[in-house]
Amino acid sequence: MLKGKNAVVTGSTSGIGEAIARALAAQGANVMLNGFGDAAAIEKLRAEIAEKNKVTVLYNPADLSKGEDCAALVRDAEVRLGSIDILVNNAGIQFVAPIHEFPVDRWNQIIAINLSSAFHTIHAALPGMLARKWGRIINTGSTHGLVASANKVAYVAAKHGIVGLTKVVALETATSGITCNAICPGWVLTPLVQKQIDDRAAREKIDIKKAEHDLLAEKQPSLRFTKVEDIGGMAVFLCSDHAQNITGAALTLDGGWTAQ
Ligand code: NAD
Repeated sequence: MLKGKNAVVTGSTSGIGEAIARALAAQGANVMLNGFGDAAAIEKLRAEIAEKNKVTVLYNPADLSKGEDCAALVRDAEVRLGSIDILVNNAGIQFVAPIHEFPVDRWNQIIAINLSSAFHTIHAALPGMLARKWGRIINTGSTHGLVASANKVAYVAAKHGIVGLTKVVALETATSGITCNAICPGWVLTPLVQKQIDDRAAREKIDIKKAEHDLLAEKQPSLRFTKVEDIGGMAVFLCSDHAQNITGAALTLDGGWTAQ
């Protein structure tokens, strides 16, 4: 379905971004991976996705906390892949503390990676999409882009920002063949959430299974984690013809979290 399309997926060396990259490649898209991690593991992932799907898969190590790296990532993809048709802004980090104890450098880092990087990549990639009159911009938001939780001030502010940015880009591109949407997952079992489960188990002196259950029970009525593959599937759908008129949306995959 996406044969011949070129995609950039930020934060795709792990978790949700990796699943989105795999899902787009499985539909025939060439993919530029990005994110941190062990160089050998990233090369293995790159080669595996390329080989399995017979597509071009490249890697760029841009640090998305830096605006100039975001622009350089877009330029690199345009040069080496030829264009960017699908841009997935997914890189993100978490830090948990009440606001009066929240370290200022963590605030700045989360706003830079979880919010500003999407501004910088869209700013750089949109002219090419406008020229080709086709584009799909997908931002990984969160239920925390729609509702809040205590102790996540930077994350919640950044994700609400992502939902707002998504709406503005959707309006500005509404007649141009480009769509811009936010995918808003609830709890997904990835390294980002595993850390919160491990911290909870240690803090409350409970086992990991109980910590997982308690985490879900607090917010996610289905009591099931959203799977990374579910989010990959949603990204593919948003790139399909049937999604041509879905734009400016914040699409939840949250087991009923935000229905409450
Ligand atoms: P993860 O930790 O598995 O993956 C994060 C990715 O971002 C990794 O590839 C990492 O290397 C990359 N990254 C981090 N800092 C970076 C930087 N400065 N520059 C470039 N890449 C960087 O986490 P995940 O759970 O897969 O999270 C992916 C996205 O999904 C995030 O935006 C997160 O906020 C969002 N999200 C996650 C959940 C969840 O429950 N896991 C729920 C809602 C939204």
